[in-house]
Amino acid sequence: MSIKTLTKKQFITDFKEKLYEEKLVTLEEAVPAELFTILAKVIRKYYTNEWSKRNEEITSKQQKVAYYFSMEFLPGRMLETNLLNLGILDLVKEAFTDLGLDFEAVKTAEYDMALGNGGLGRLAAAFMDSLATTGYLGFGNGLRYKYGLFKQRIVDGYQVELADSWFGSNGNVWEVKKERHTVDIKLFGQVYLKKDDAGRLKPVYENAQILHAVPYDVPQIGYQNQVINNLRLWDVEIPAEYELNYPTLTERRRIQDITAVLYPDDSNYEGQQLRLIQEYFMTSAGLQTIIKSYLKQGLPLERIHEKVAVHINDTHPAVAPAEFMRLLIDDYGLDWDTAWSTTVKTMSYTNHTILSEALEKWDIDLFKTTIPRVFQIIVEIDNRFVFEMAEKEVPHHIIEKTRIIKGHHVHMANLAIIGGYSVNGVAKLHTELLKADTLKDFYQLYPEKFNNKTNGIVQRRWTQIAAPELSKVIDETIGQGWRQDIHELRKLNAYLDDSQVLAEFYQVKQVAKAKLAAYIKETTGIEVSTEAIFDVQVKRLHAYKRQLLNLLHIIKLYWDLKDNPDKDMVPRVFIFGAKAAPGYHFAKSVIKLINEVANLVNYDETLQGKLKVVFLENYNVSLAELIIPAADVSEQISLASKEASGTSNMKFMMTGAITLATLDGANIEIKEEVGDDNIVIFGMDKDEVYRHYEAHDYYSRSLYENNPILTRVLDTFINGSLPGAVREGADIFEALVTHNDEYFLLADFMSYIEAQEQIDQLYRDQEKWSRMSLANIANSDKFTSDDTITEYAKDIWHLEK
Ligand SMILES: *Cc1c(COP(=O)(O)O)cnc(C)c1O
Repeated sequence: MSIKTLTKKQFITDFKEKLYEEKLVTLEEAVPAELFTILAKVIRKYYTNEWSKRNEEITSKQQKVAYYFSMEFLPGRMLETNLLNLGILDLVKEAFTDLGLDFEAVKTAEYDMALGNGGLGRLAAAFMDSLATTGYLGFGNGLRYKYGLFKQRIVDGYQVELADSWFGSNGNVWEVKKERHTVDIKLFGQVYLKKDDAGRLKPVYENAQILHAVPYDVPQIGYQNQVINNLRLWDVEIPAEYELNYPTLTERRRIQDITAVLYPDDSNYEGQQLRLIQEYFMTSAGLQTIIKSYLKQGLPLERIHEKVAVHINDTHPAVAPAEFMRLLIDDYGLDWDTAWSTTVKTMSYTNHTILSEALEKWDIDLFKTTIPRVFQIIVEIDNRFVFEMAEKEVPHHIIEKTRIIKGHHVHMANLAIIGGYSVNGVAKLHTELLKADTLKDFYQLYPEKFNNKTNGIVQRRWTQIAAPELSKVIDETIGQGWRQDIHELRKLNAYLDDSQVLAEFYQVKQVAKAKLAAYIKETTGIEVSTEAIFDVQVKRLHAYKRQLLNLLHIIKLYWDLKDNPDKDMVPRVFIFGAKAAPGYHFAKSVIKLINEVANLVNYDETLQGKLKVVFLENYNVSLAELIIPAADVSEQISLASKEASGTSNMKFMMTGAITLATLDGANIEIKEEVGDDNIVIFGMDKDEVYRHYEAHDYYSRSLYENNPILTRVLDTFINGSLPGAVREGADIFEALVTHNDEYFLLADFMSYIEAQEQIDQLYRDQEKWSRMSLANIANSDKFTSDDTITEYAKDIWHLEK
């Protein structure tokens, strides 16, 4: 069965047969969840041949393969993407219409695959799609968490976390379990070295725990190109021969926990042994498989770097160089120098943060207890590094700063940098700051390893899938070529002064806004007008992202309107979506305050509907697909230097929102692409921020006391205006005034207010606004992850097509 010759008639026959065979129901009786499962199973058979062919190619073609190791993958729903990429989305939709079925209902019956926290995991998922689409041999390696990122409910304004049991009892419909590729993982115990018959030192393990890592492969379908790559997710099982070692439920549970939950924390405070085991489990399983697969080609192991690249996405899999050494030396008998030489040529690493306190490190004792042999190898790598640097006469204090084992900790970024050949940041500014600041000493030692790869997004998901009406208008304006080649969007630049075209794009935005307004009404009961500016901030809740600055502006508008209900302003709807890490007190207080302010303003009739605040619960990829195309304003207001790149900024740009931003992360590159007139910039740049750090001259209390607007806005938190959030109000006030406002909100406040006033003025001129919006869409092609991944493939991994 080939997908190319599939007809609607054939599809309908297949679909009905499968439904009857598996569920014994007719179309009329089936519920959306059943229809979804059947649809997924039917389309699986259309791509299975290509998928298994691709898996064989790894060994048969002897081409280099990149393996992307990531603790997080956040693809969201797969159905529509898979259909689109197979080229049968329209066919299936038409068939559903013929059958009298509701495609939307069936599509929404799929659970989001949320094996990630936010941007980092979403990027990994984007890269999977783009690797398949560009045709490079690049496979993913991760964990099959039973529970994805928690489901967020808002109860009385507070975040409540619920378990996300995303694949229920039947497994994930897209995956295939590959039992025969099971590998062993060794944890705990004691290890000592003993000479074997040939006089070589071999490790002897005592009391180690042996577990099975069992892979589940999830297809990654390229865009209409018959390429299907693999995302391999590992699950844990107790080997049959050790079943008796774990007689109690508690003992079994402790093991199952290894793949139970994704840590709901994207700020790296985590210090649990379980987390280290998760990281090691995934890394070891992936590397063992890679070596086995490579050896099938009959090539010598010391040249594995010629056929394999291993990429470390953030430090979570950064144990990889040490584990690879362990396998090469202990299991395959390579000598240290040979093993090290090939290891360093195999590993590359992406850094995702400039916050040095967020760089992952592990307590030595914890590490030694958990993976004792790997720890021995890290000690040896560290010793040799120190020795080599001393020989090169690197100053002592630099060696001490860059070595892997320092104080009582193993420093994972240091291991990834020393044990690999490439380190990249994720936006121009971020990479510059890594070189100049966070990783400065490493940049002195290994300048050749550093490079930048600005993040990207899968344009297909954010336009063709999330914004079908917009996509249609683009088709009508410049033809359909952009669906294959996103760079054709630039043709839209020819229509920036065409009032007719501008009006069509404006209308399309209104349609998306109406859809979101209906969702808001349905889920929160709040009525919003599509005539208002939809001003959106959706992303993880974090102090540095400054959702609170947004809220300060809203409170200012509230007092303006209370003083003067006739204030001349374009009505605004402020829309938030954000999950807070469950242990992140500050972030949770901000959520509560947003909801309290929402209560204050939404039902106050004196405001004449000019101000609405909506917090949509459970922000995830599917919700992003609904919200982002409906945004007029994209809030990207992190303190300059803190947001490594951001990717939602790119999604908003591509669907025609105007970015309101600080000069941070990829906002800078968005500004370069769209031009100064089509973006609104405010606040300090990173040089000003750094000057404050150096001069130690920031004093938030004096800003609070001397600026009457700020006084009034901040007092709102503590003067009884928000009776439902007295404690949270006091906490936040204290953070901003008493604890000197770590992220300089008060310093950027007035500039933000002015920028917001500029937005208000710009929106009044519909044609001008539409021109800005279209300019954003027309110049967004730079941020396709297809191009980002091509750069990784060429510059870092050296892959061929
Ligand atoms: C794109 C995306 C993110 C990343 O958003 P930033 O604003 O770049 O932090 C986080 N979560 C989801 C669900 C996303 O789709």
